[in-house]
Amino acid sequence: LERPCLVPEVAGAELSVPLVNGGTIGYANLDHAASAPCLQRVRTAVDEFLPWYASVHRGAGFASQVSTKVYERTREVLRRFTGARSTDTVIFTRNTTDSFNLLAKCLPRETSVVLFDTEHHAALLPWRGPRVHRVEPPRTRLAAVSAVDSALAACAPGPRLVVLTGASNVTGELLPVAEIAAVARKHGARIALDAAQLAPHRPFSLRELDVDYVALSGHKLYAPFGAGALVGRADWLRAGQPYLAGGGATKAVQRHHGTELGVVWNSGPERHEAGSPNTVGVYALGVACEALSENWDAIREHEDALLRRLHRGLSSVPGFAELRLFDADVDRVGTLSFVIDGFEPGWLAAVLSAEYGIGVRDGAFCAHIATRRLIRFAGGAGQQAVRVSLGLGSTEEHVDRLLLALRQIVARGARWEYGKVDGRWAP
Ligand code: PMP
Repeated sequence: LERPCLVPEVAGAELSVPLVNGGTIGYANLDHAASAPCLQRVRTAVDEFLPWYASVHRGAGFASQVSTKVYERTREVLRRFTGARSTDTVIFTRNTTDSFNLLAKCLPRETSVVLFDTEHHAALLPWRGPRVHRVEPPRTRLAAVSAVDSALAACAPGPRLVVLTGASNVTGELLPVAEIAAVARKHGARIALDAAQLAPHRPFSLRELDVDYVALSGHKLYAPFGAGALVGRADWLRAGQPYLAGGGATKAVQRHHGTELGVVWNSGPERHEAGSPNTVGVYALGVACEALSENWDAIREHEDALLRRLHRGLSSVPGFAELRLFDADVDRVGTLSFVIDGFEPGWLAAVLSAEYGIGVRDGAFCAHIATRRLIRFAGGAGQQAVRVSLGLGSTEEHVDRLLLALRQIVARGARWEYGKVDGRWAP
């Protein structure tokens, strides 16, 4: 009997890609952590919505009313998806990067920020000034919690914010969010969760974790590019300078004497959403969140089974060394990075693509400090690694093809000659 399809289907299962030998092969997308393929359900919903989209909040026409309803209703979807409190605000952004830059702009003066230096650059870089404390994470979860405790204890008086990823985009390991949130509370600090890599794989709740803010990206959540969200406590966001200045963010604008303008800014989420919003993207994000929420058990079972298969197979590839944040095995999503002794990651990734139709990521994954350090821990010497990331578009055949490919490449190298074109390896 064929197994019933338990997990939501993604678009792209039918895609074929060219091989260097002139043939084609079904695309094995093992790069879900960068951007996940669109769910079929999202694709259908977007297709139905496209003829209807119109200006949000501004038009009296029926299509504008529909768009406004869809847009505002999606705030409620995001509220449910993130387990937000009734007083939390949902601001639509472009992605996680945008969400953290917005939050950074709204921090009260003299806020101390504590974070691990292994964070993705989107979470590492938006905070500036002498009150930013970037801590090297110790190699156990328990010690990581203590390290945040100590860093917060050493902060100057005033507001404090801890920024933490839910799941590492380099290793897939889950961080001890609830434990660190409890420590943050003890010090009167707030905590902002980077859920870019957690949200596509695990349900979570701001309320249950006792977390103040969460940032996420639609394109990692099986929706197309261009829509993300920042969800969390309203007060700092209401008091902060508008993220963008423009239409929709204001209640009233008038000329004062001289050259000054008198502007009354909105205090709700629109304060930070100036300009015509990405209604289609926001709708797609909401549909994806609903689809995931209805299928967590099946998603978990699918991804865990593939990850076990991948892991078992990789450990027998000669020279394979995996990057790990923590010494011991911890709960993780289906993302892992590795180096193979004697093989340049960029070259490996190029061969996997050109000869096997497999898409992986190589490099330092916008987490340069983490990647470099973890390569060293793994016994490697370089600055770059290969990352494989599983998701709803991944199959056993994709995993088996990767394992076979790596064994063949390690045993006999590539079948074709490769050279660098514009800094990247290519046949
Ligand atoms: N945080 C993490 C953990 C990520 O993996 C990423 C994307 N690689 C981001 C933040 C940034 O997401 P985006 O590029 O969608 O802003």
